[in-house]
Amino acid sequence: MKDKLVRAVASNGDIRIIAATTTELVNEGVKIHKCAPTAAAALGRMLTAGSLMGSMLKSKNDTLTLKISGGGEAKAIVVTSYSDARVKGYIGNPLVDLPANSRGKLDVGGAVGKNGDLVVIRDMGLREPYIGQVPIRTGEIGDDLAYYFTVSEQTPSAVGLGVLVDTDLSIKAAGGFIIQMMPEANELTADLVTYRLQEIPSITEMITKGMNIEEILNYIFEGMDLKILESTTPYYKCDCSKEKVEKALISIGLKDLQEIYDEGKDEELNCNFCNKSYVFKHDDIGKLIESASK
Ligand SMILES: [Zn+2]
Repeated sequence: MKDKLVRAVASNGDIRIIAATTTELVNEGVKIHKCAPTAAAALGRMLTAGSLMGSMLKSKNDTLTLKISGGGEAKAIVVTSYSDARVKGYIGNPLVDLPANSRGKLDVGGAVGKNGDLVVIRDMGLREPYIGQVPIRTGEIGDDLAYYFTVSEQTPSAVGLGVLVDTDLSIKAAGGFIIQMMPEANELTADLVTYRLQEIPSITEMITKGMNIEEILNYIFEGMDLKILESTTPYYKCDCSKEKVEKALISIGLKDLQEIYDEGKDEELNCNFCNKSYVFKHDDIGKLIESASK
């Protein structure tokens, strides 16, 4: 089934919903980074969250970066997304793989760790990006994002993120949702949603059963006046280029660049997000120094 992201409202607009199936895009990210199962689940949840939150951006030039780093073996996980639900990401240690947790699930919380922060950076082209930050609660990512929305953005939210990794390390199902209560929503509506979310099977279970994202939302919000507003296809894509890597290389400073040049070796840089390698020959570095010192 093709990935799909939808925006919807329920209860006369009191509830705002963004939900997506992300099996293909998570599979793409996990393949690029050759992730072990626990790493795949952790990166997959972050990629899913990134595509959901990216689609909440207002302008097409805005970017959103999510970073979670809790001192665990996974090291930092970073994803960047855009308003069209495009996303890219990486995990510091793609080989992290822990025994299942007490509920028999991949131990994402254990891999991420709790000793650190979840950071949300929204770059809207202003002088300073907007940066929000909360301490990690469980490291399971969904819980941490719900806490972020509630505390840092004063919007009570429920966040569900799921990744099911197959025995051949491909992704069997992935998806997620962000459900937000608008200030007008009454307590009864909030309680009803909380109750429904406790009752439903996990999102990966529903996807595995063959339910599409509209069917999943219809099921959760049955009798609550669900309206799908729009839909789009989320996808994994890196936008790196030789020019961008050149800029990064120049940004290390002329002195360091001169040192690399004087060593006389080629310089190879790999893109964190897609592992593509960019080789700068000795002559290329010389030209960069020449143009940067003009
Ligand atoms: Zn790249």
